[in-house]
Amino acid sequence: MAVYKTVQREILLDFLKARKNEAFTVREIAYELSRRGDLEKIPSESTVYRLLKDLEKNGSVQKDINPENREFVYRLTENHGKGVSMRCRVCGNVYSVDNETSRRLQADIAGVGDIVPDGDIEFIVECRNCKHRPEEQNN
Ligand SMILES: [Zn+2]
Repeated sequence: MAVYKTVQREILLDFLKARKNEAFTVREIAYELSRRGDLEKIPSESTVYRLLKDLEKNGSVQKDINPENREFVYRLTENHGKGVSMRCRVCGNVYSVDNETSRRLQADIAGVGDIVPDGDIEFIVECRNCKHRPEEQNN
């Protein structure tokens, strides 16, 4: 389940990146994705909604209201890709990192080997909830 969530999150981000000057409702995004023939599993509207909420939390996506019909629309933020986020490998939840920490991490990573961060940094972690699940304990 977490794997699906990760894949679908990438699909959603790719979609928004490809059309970054436009804003979409949840329904429009789900519809556009459903028209693609190459997806193994098409995200439902509720999945799209949950993913957008995660992306909004980590600053990748911003939510606006369409003044004409009062519907929420989502778009990629201006500074998308300049943040750092933490994603739990078990449940797929995304946790944001504050700006100061984010800047420091970016600076640190820039000095490692031949790596040139393009700004979109994601750490794979195990969140507290998952770590404390009895069956998941491995240290
Ligand atoms: Zn977790």
